[in-house]
Amino acid sequence: MLGVNSISGRTNKQNAHFQNENGWRSKFPFDSPQTPEQVLGRLTPTMKKSDQRSISRPRTRAKDSRRPPSPPASRTRQSSPHIVVVGAGAFGGWTALHLRRSGAQVTLLDAWGPGHVRSSSGGETRVIRATYGPDRPYYGLVKRSLELWRENEKQWKRPLYQQTGLLWMAGKNDAYEQAALPLLREHGLAYESLTPDEASKRYPHICFDGVPWVIQEIDAGYLLARRACAAVMESFVAEGGRYQQFRAVPDRIIGGALKGLRLQDGTSIQADAYVFACGPWLGQLFPGVVQIRSTRQEVYYFGTPAGDRVHQEENTPAWIDHGPGLIYGIPGNEWRGFKLADDAPGKRVDPESQDRSPTPSGIAAVRKYLHRRFPKLKGAPLIGAEVCQYEVSADKRYIADRHPEASNVWLVGGGSGHGFKNGPAFGEYVARIVLSKQSVDPFFGLSRFGSDPSKKAKPERGAL
Ligand SMILES: Cc1cc2nc3c(=O)[nH]c(=O)nc-3n(C[C@H](O)[C@H](O)[C@H](O)COP(=O)(O)OP(=O)(O)OC[C@H]3O[C@@H](n4cnc5c(N)ncnc54)[C@H](O)[C@@H]3O)c2cc1C
Repeated sequence: MLGVNSISGRTNKQNAHFQNENGWRSKFPFDSPQTPEQVLGRLTPTMKKSDQRSISRPRTRAKDSRRPPSPPASRTRQSSPHIVVVGAGAFGGWTALHLRRSGAQVTLLDAWGPGHVRSSSGGETRVIRATYGPDRPYYGLVKRSLELWRENEKQWKRPLYQQTGLLWMAGKNDAYEQAALPLLREHGLAYESLTPDEASKRYPHICFDGVPWVIQEIDAGYLLARRACAAVMESFVAEGGRYQQFRAVPDRIIGGALKGLRLQDGTSIQADAYVFACGPWLGQLFPGVVQIRSTRQEVYYFGTPAGDRVHQEENTPAWIDHGPGLIYGIPGNEWRGFKLADDAPGKRVDPESQDRSPTPSGIAAVRKYLHRRFPKLKGAPLIGAEVCQYEVSADKRYIADRHPEASNVWLVGGGSGHGFKNGPAFGEYVARIVLSKQSVDPFFGLSRFGSDPSKKAKPERGAL
């Protein structure tokens, strides 16, 4: 049936994969379906025909029992670019999927696996919200990501996005929220503004003392984090991508290009382009080029009273309190408990070796807050915790740009505590700049740091 998707306005037929006469499938949303030659032509516009013919499939393959079946011979084309994506978190996984859907041959590598506990995409849930202060580029990303979360979870028959709505409580300095309203409207992102009285009537179990006003976002909610990363990787493999579980080390850069990757089993891999979406590891791999600070973040789950339905997602939206810095929570999620966390970046840590036990001081601080804002949860027991790390860029903006000394290397990261929701649209953007002549958006580019990647640009207020 040719129905209309109520969210995107696209028909089911438009949402389906495109398959051209060569048997290549494409779902790249920015362009009409393209042949691999067209994709290749866009990737290397200045190359001669003879050079283009020399672009081939991976020359060296590591042993991998998880290698997916090769696509039928009629589907393989020697001329399609081979791109390696290092990192299967929110940014790398979605980038690999979009690259594959646009016709590239893609190998996705991860040292531990998509959404593993030590990655920044690990854990149970993430907030998806659209209030982004004055930072216009994020509104388009959130809008597109909402469409892609909905389309893909439907295609995969796996619920990953829960539309609980979100209460954004402004602080006394509400410049961030005031700047957001016209941009929410401009992008068609539905919201209501509530006075504290209106909010109290709607949610009598929440104490809005000290909150001047509230934005209630309608399409916001939460996403299932580690499960979504696994779903993206599984879809990528089912659609013909290759996933390998290896740590990769970049080889030397010679003559303006990276020569390849060394894998931990002693083999190497060469490709036409490399995307490093290595989360908190990105700065360690490219010191002096990109700076990423890994900060410790503790997340807590409090137990609700027996029989309680009030603090579950049917009666309490996800919420963010921008008064005392930024504290946020997600209720419900399969009776996991009442999630609460402070977004303030913690101490610097190593993502591989940091101890992941919650600290008594962290627990005491959020408990105090919980009692004040959710009085009925006074004395609620701590029933779980997760310790993760943000991967913070100098100005807390995402990063996607070409390596200044290697034209075949792309650096992607800096989610800075708010990258997960936008994995679908940011990955789509990265796939587009890697495969096309489109220039990099300076908002996400490395040029904003000048010659010093640690240069402090003005950080945005509010993460998540
Ligand atoms: C506690 C917490 C709460 C958060 N809350 C929110 C939220 O509510 N909403 C939101 O939108 N965002 C949130 N974020 C931020 C968001 O989760 C991250 O910005 C995003 O997940 C980062 O994804 P990534 O792909 O860049 O990094 P990662 O998920 O860390 O992925 C990087 C991957 O690269 C792999 N890797 C690294 N080096 C190599 C190598 N050399 N070889 C092979 N593999 C390698 C790693 O194994 C890892 O899997 C939160 C983050 C945390 C920690």
